[in-house]
Amino acid sequence: MLNFELYNPTNYIFGKGQTAKISELIPQNSKVLLAYGGGSIFKNGVYEQVKLALSNFEVVEFGGIEPNPRYETLMKAVAIIREQKIDFILAVGGGSVIDGVKFISAAVKFEGNPKDILHKRLLIKELSQVIPFGTVLTLPATGSEMNSGAVITIDETQEKLSFGGSALFPKFSICDPTVIASLPIRQIQNGIVDAYTHVLEQYLTYPHDAMLQDRIAEGILQTLVEIGPAVVENPSDYKLAANYMWCATMALNGLIQKGVPSDWATHMIGHELTALYEIDHARTLAIIGPNLYRVMFDTKKEKLVQYGERVFNISGNSVEDKAEQAIEKTVEFLHAMGMQTKLSENTNDYQKTADFIVNRFEERGWKALGEKQNITPEKVRAIVEMSY
Ligand code: NAP
Ligand code: FE
Repeated sequence: MLNFELYNPTNYIFGKGQTAKISELIPQNSKVLLAYGGGSIFKNGVYEQVKLALSNFEVVEFGGIEPNPRYETLMKAVAIIREQKIDFILAVGGGSVIDGVKFISAAVKFEGNPKDILHKRLLIKELSQVIPFGTVLTLPATGSEMNSGAVITIDETQEKLSFGGSALFPKFSICDPTVIASLPIRQIQNGIVDAYTHVLEQYLTYPHDAMLQDRIAEGILQTLVEIGPAVVENPSDYKLAANYMWCATMALNGLIQKGVPSDWATHMIGHELTALYEIDHARTLAIIGPNLYRVMFDTKKEKLVQYGERVFNISGNSVEDKAEQAIEKTVEFLHAMGMQTKLSENTNDYQKTADFIVNRFEERGWKALGEKQNITPEKVRAIVEMSY
């Protein structure tokens, strides 16, 4: 097992009716920015619950944080916070609102051009660098409610970039599974596939000796396979919703990543597809993931066998046969979750897409991705081209 440190200060508050606790969780006399997205919270009762819980606080509202949150939009919130001397932010929404608030939190205190936080991938480690924030999660998917990372899009340059640091854990996250009942089917499918891929990024690498991390990862994968289609069918079933929500948090709250290698190239390539074609985040992962496993077959085949045997109960004659079956089972699950797994459904210009992504990665010096640092620009090209 690799050495590790486990630090996660987020107060994770799970279950029905927990939103009322916000009033005890935000420091008294705080002036609060209530940040939200395009307005779903007005239709499902979440806004009323939050407002009730905030009734003893002075509140300024900031709506309109879009899916794949935009730097340009977030900087408007930064200006409001500076002008109005706000000292706490409450993010109410999915990964986009929470990620957006992480950026706002760091940008308010940043001296210099806040774009540098993204371009230079500055680590935000000191609490003095941020405005504290909490979250009310309305879409289980990203794990952003219990991690310290975020992904922000700069509209002007069509870049989608990640950043983070230990000062960017939410102070608290309210996770009430009843919010799932109002989610559009497409977003539930996205959430399950994003969480599933988060686990694969940290699990589907090469055999190692961190046995517990593997078993936890496999448990999350098995649970998502077991409940995924049923949650889509019946999002108001509390048992299903609760398990989906906890799986999504556990997939990316740092726990399964401790002491093990990780990949993340599916996400890195996927972010480019969202920046270029506005494909939903999870749908880019469904397009790229299986092709990455095919192109990187020799690196990943042993772990693919373990995954296939333990998560899908496959059997077979050779390592290659079983590893291929594991990829096919993954594709079947993605299709069952309503994913298309071909980029040709979004664009026909595959040469241009591959050139663009490879050039960008080279410009950024991303020449050796993946758990073995053997995903070279040529491999990235092969993965993108195979996606047609
Ligand atoms: P999202 O972009 O936050 O939300 C997608 C849509 O779902 C929005 O239109 C939103 O509407 C709607 N929605 C949310 N909750 C709802 C509810 N309860 N009922 C009805 N509609 C609801 O989706 P997401 O998948 O959670 O976040 C995706 C972003 O997170 C991407 O930018 C991705 O790159 C990033 N990400 C971050 C991490 C991380 O660790 N930080 C990891 C993976 C991905 P409203 O806007 O109207 O609320
Ligand atoms: Fe993701």
